[in-house]
Amino acid sequence: MPNMGLWFEESQEERAVLGPFREFLKAEVAPGAAERDRTGAFPFELVRKLAQFGVFGATVPEAYGGAGLTSRLFARMVEEIAYYDGALALTVASHNSLATGHILLAGNERQKETFLPKLASGEALGAWGLTEPGSGSDAAALKTRAEPVSGGYVLNGTKQFITQGSVAGVYVIVARTDPAPSPERKHLGISAFAFFRPETGLRIGRKEEKLGLNASDTAQLVLEDLFVAEDSLLGERGKGFYDVLKVLDGGRIGIAAMAVGLGRAALDYALRYAKQREAFGRPIAEYQGVSFKLAEAATELEAARLLYLKAAELKDGGRPYTLEAAQAKLFASEVAVKACDEAIQILGGYGYIKDYPVERYWRDARLTRIGEGTSEILKLVIARRLLESV
Ligand SMILES: Cc1cc2nc3c(=O)[nH]c(=O)nc-3n(C[C@H](O)[C@H](O)[C@H](O)COP(=O)(O)OP(=O)(O)OC[C@H]3O[C@@H](n4cnc5c(N)ncnc54)[C@H](O)[C@@H]3O)c2cc1C
Repeated sequence: MPNMGLWFEESQEERAVLGPFREFLKAEVAPGAAERDRTGAFPFELVRKLAQFGVFGATVPEAYGGAGLTSRLFARMVEEIAYYDGALALTVASHNSLATGHILLAGNERQKETFLPKLASGEALGAWGLTEPGSGSDAAALKTRAEPVSGGYVLNGTKQFITQGSVAGVYVIVARTDPAPSPERKHLGISAFAFFRPETGLRIGRKEEKLGLNASDTAQLVLEDLFVAEDSLLGERGKGFYDVLKVLDGGRIGIAAMAVGLGRAALDYALRYAKQREAFGRPIAEYQGVSFKLAEAATELEAARLLYLKAAELKDGGRPYTLEAAQAKLFASEVAVKACDEAIQILGGYGYIKDYPVERYWRDARLTRIGEGTSEILKLVIARRLLESV
């Protein structure tokens, strides 16, 4: 049962959206989640069904075919999806926050009219390519080149670990258009490009086999003399890295929400299990060694949720939220992984067995400490903000 042990107030609008949404997730998403994890098959049919709730254009304005929801409500939806299926939550979160979010943030009117309706309806999924084999945390060290040519740019390079990489209809790719003025200022000269899946020039490289989130598509993209027209350029040429950082800020709220959903799923399973499983003549929940784990997880997950809601509300209010999004994602991912790990412990040997879902929750949650800024990088972001403030 969702929300067990956790409390927070949902607004009337949130209840109206989340109530039927949860029913749908319970009926349509929950039953096949373990099987999708096993096969790794991308759930095209579920994506189509989910689209009717507007989740693929959650924060896209209605004028572009979106649902026009707040970031707060969108994050709550991601949390609910993750409660039932972490891979699907990553699909929805990355589609919205990264490719769609980048076009919303930096696209001109024509680009918004071209791409957003297709993304918002779920007709086209979005993939966002920043990471490369040689650059992840140090993203500005990217090597992909976008050479200016007559009428556009020619892209060459390799993008690594791209969510929706092999299934997307719209790509946003970050590449260097101009030389960096100096090694310290290598974030300058970077630009972003949005385009529909091209017929030539974009090769899908290896599809990754992962620890978890198996039904989320993760692929390498190889750009081989890919020509993109001049009007594919998103935002100002050479200043794209500033937009990249803002896109990641938004993405971190979604990953934090996803972490809370997975942690809650593990907590709820462990709670029920601990009341039923007996050892030494009593339910194990009666031992403080067990119940304190549950108490800690419930408290930490509640705090994590409040952190991501705070960041989302700041975003909705048009206020700076870099610090808050980093704090939310750092804390939520760490406590969610801990909650999943403790749930495995509470289930004992059964926790380690695939017939029980908690090992899947742990495998899925583990990504949240890595994607869209590792915990270490988030601490750098947080510390920098703190030090700047004094
Ligand atoms: C399933 C999955 C989906 C992904 N989806 C996308 C996507 O859609 N688009 C995309 O562009 N990318 C995506 N990524 C990439 C992801 O964002 C990167 O993996 C992540 O940013 C870390 O980069 P890296 O893997 O190169 O690790 P590295 O940057 O090589 O880091 C390795 C380790 O060193 C640490 N480290 C690095 N620098 C410092 C430092 N200065 N101080 C302290 N520690 C440091 C890191 O924290 C980490 O522990 C995805 C990754 C995965 C696994």
